Amino acid sequence: MDHFLYKNGALHAEDVPLAEIAAAVGTPFYVYSTATLLRHFKLFDDALNWADDHLVCFAMKSASNQAILKLLGDAGAGMDVVSGGEYARARAAGIPGDRIVFSGVGKTRDEMRQALNGGIRQFNVESEPEMRVLSEIATSLDVIAPITIRVNPDVDAKTNEKIATGRKGDKFGIPISRAREVYAMAASLPGLKVIGIDVHIGSQLTDLEPFRAAYEKVANLTKMLREEGHEITRLDLGGGLGIPYARSNLAPPLPSDYGKLIQETVGHLGCEIEIEPGRLVSGNAGMLVAQTIYIKEGEDRKFLIIDAAMNDLIRPAMYGAHHDIVPIIEPTPGMELATYDIVGPICESGDTFAKHRELPAIKEGELVGFRSAGAYGAVMSSEYNTRPLIPEVLVQGDQFAVIRPRPTFDDIINRDTIPEWL
Ligand SMILES: *Cc1c(COP(=O)(O)O)cnc(C)c1O
Repeated sequence: MDHFLYKNGALHAEDVPLAEIAAAVGTPFYVYSTATLLRHFKLFDDALNWADDHLVCFAMKSASNQAILKLLGDAGAGMDVVSGGEYARARAAGIPGDRIVFSGVGKTRDEMRQALNGGIRQFNVESEPEMRVLSEIATSLDVIAPITIRVNPDVDAKTNEKIATGRKGDKFGIPISRAREVYAMAASLPGLKVIGIDVHIGSQLTDLEPFRAAYEKVANLTKMLREEGHEITRLDLGGGLGIPYARSNLAPPLPSDYGKLIQETVGHLGCEIEIEPGRLVSGNAGMLVAQTIYIKEGEDRKFLIIDAAMNDLIRPAMYGAHHDIVPIIEPTPGMELATYDIVGPICESGDTFAKHRELPAIKEGELVGFRSAGAYGAVMSSEYNTRPLIPEVLVQGDQFAVIRPRPTFDDIINRDTIPEWL
């Protein structure tokens, strides 16, 4: 459920008409609903209520505006960060270090130093070389780095090839079959304190079974490692729960069922539970709003040419992803329908958001909205074609604020420097 609904014939974000935001900030823009963000965070938090100790760490790579981080942080969320930039951003948004977990296969020495100096809840270590380097850095700073080790459970998440991360050929984590020796090595290295196990099998999972398979393996591993003398007190179970991108699709599993599954598979171990949801928290909490520039009659089809492009929302071009696209003026029953290819202005055929999409007939100048654009939308945008990054807007009730302004052409151009010898 989200808070983007038609009221009085116009699509609103909570109590604000999207057309009003468009008039104030121009198009295209991203808009997020505070109520939806908080609702989704709470669903996860409540789903883990059975665990005495738990922390929902928002995977901020899905939506990293500081206003969103602060909102979730104030509600009690931790953050899952994957770079020094994200760490700095989370801290700038007021998230304490002891609520930040650091994931990723390629953490650099600088990033390790930054997080150890600034404060960190744990590193999710993904390889033996990384573990040795972290040991060395922590020792040189005379601190102890708390770690979990990310295991690769060899489970197929049955999702898009590009976002499956838990099969044995994927670059993530250590093979679960080698966990015994890797944990023994971790225990022998100075500067490290092993506290738990981490797993994350992929993104946009629409079935709970792969999670069950992975978490059962984690439960068995916990017992085995405890027998070996390791103190396993924390399980980080990753993110990955999917969202319904097409309204017509069956609904993916609910956070409450996911929480029950966690309780069933690892609840008896008495561990602190962490999860790292990104997409399900932010995805349906955001929309991209664009304006129709032209309606072009092609040879065998109509093109709806809009002012947003693949640089603003790359998911359709990159993953073949579907987004529901809706008019901002509420369609009325019996309204004329038309079928469009919905495209941006960039000179690449990949700059296509949807093909053969049936919509209520749209007029030039009319606004359209892309649903479910809050995750992996703004964060993956670029300035390709020297198109300025589009603004982000946060709505709460009947108020809205620009949380990232649109840069001017000068802002962009002035970042280049021409060498004096030219
Ligand atoms: C991307 C990622 C997540 C979040 O995945 P979602 O599908 O957005 O929930 C969580 N943990 C790790 C390690 C990730 O790489």
